[in-house]
Amino acid sequence: MAGTFRKCMMLCCTSKVSREDMATESYEEAIAELTKLLSANADLGEIAAAKIKQITAELQAADSKQFDPVERIKTGFIHFKKHNFEKNPALYGDLAKCQSPKFLVFACSDSRVCPSHILNFQPGEAFMVRNIANMVPPYDKTKYSGVGAAIEYAVLHLKVQNIVVIGHSCCGGIKGLMSIPDDGTTASDFIEQWVQICSPAKAKVKADHSELSFAEQCTNCEKEAVNVSLGNLLTYPFVGNAVANKTLAVKGAHYDFVKGTFQLWDLESKVSHFFSE
Ligand SMILES: [Zn+2]
Repeated sequence: MAGTFRKCMMLCCTSKVSREDMATESYEEAIAELTKLLSANADLGEIAAAKIKQITAELQAADSKQFDPVERIKTGFIHFKKHNFEKNPALYGDLAKCQSPKFLVFACSDSRVCPSHILNFQPGEAFMVRNIANMVPPYDKTKYSGVGAAIEYAVLHLKVQNIVVIGHSCCGGIKGLMSIPDDGTTASDFIEQWVQICSPAKAKVKADHSELSFAEQCTNCEKEAVNVSLGNLLTYPFVGNAVANKTLAVKGAHYDFVKGTFQLWDLESKVSHFFSE
């Protein structure tokens, strides 16, 4: 499959490699330039040798300043502890005893769409499941036990009052779904099989919006896939019962990180809210 999803993954890898290549290239170029200078004028030998030594030392120093994951995690935690944990002893004291979140949130694993950031959820407010393309699979005890366990715990034990499935703009998982060829051939071990949970959304978009560009179809599919997930939620008996008893509401949402907008809708009542400021 020569789909966009694969291209995206390749692009991500390429951009990383090219940065490293650039560093190597500039180093090699500098050495080559100096070697050329050295051979052209023997008198410059000592100066060139000193310059090479200096450049090598500078490059080594720059290298040692490379990203340090342990340091990043340490500074991140210290910041959180100082500015959040120690400033809110009442909140963290309560949370030490139990959690009582009002929301179960499904969001994409995409690093740009963390619900705690975009919706300002505080610790204890939202129980979360994050996966590729924020999908809720249908009830299946063996195939999808991980997601099933999270929903069961959130609904039956934490008694959340709302489930929100949040799709987002430029979703690589949805592009991957939309790129799977009609003959169904796949190239990944897990990804394409996973995103096909929302194949009905893809089929609807292809049928209803064949005139749209691929990118526009993907945007439509990001929202339709949320609706498929909302339908799948109702296949879990404890969700269906809670919704029927009106102790639980399920909502769909779409976060557009290009435009900076957030859309929230209720599948049954068709009520839709659009937040842009
Ligand atoms: Zn995504």
